[in-house]
Amino acid sequence: MSMWSPWRGCKRCSEGCKYCYIHKGDFKRKVYTSKIIKTKDFEKPIEKCKNGNYKMKSKLVYVCFSSDFFIEEADEWRKECWKMIKERSDLLFLFLTKRIDRFYDCIPEDWNDGYDNVVICCTIENQKNADYKLGIF
Ligand code: SF4
Repeated sequence: MSMWSPWRGCKRCSEGCKYCYIHKGDFKRKVYTSKIIKTKDFEKPIEKCKNGNYKMKSKLVYVCFSSDFFIEEADEWRKECWKMIKERSDLLFLFLTKRIDRFYDCIPEDWNDGYDNVVICCTIENQKNADYKLGIF
């Protein structure tokens, strides 16, 4: 299993964010969570060794566990991520989102041409959100 955090930081968007582990950890380290920043690992899936092989080898890649892959602040960056995900069709990319209602704003134009290597999980924390989000999901 690999972790890929192309950006970090997040903003609360629902009741389920109340006990967010990222905010909690950042608070202890005095890090301002609401500032969304690209990380040095942005291009991690396509980084290569000197011999030309990809560095990232493990099949399953957990994406954006220090943020939300569908957060608004990353709209411009996400396009590059989709390209990398498509390039690495040999890997399986999995992420969770609390923003499934942004799905159509966040998928790439060629979504129907590939991306079988993407698993999207939707976090639903209460009945109100189940009623709202499950239909979209
Ligand atoms: S969406 Fe997830 S990471 Fe972002 S604030 Fe809510 S619980 Fe935390």
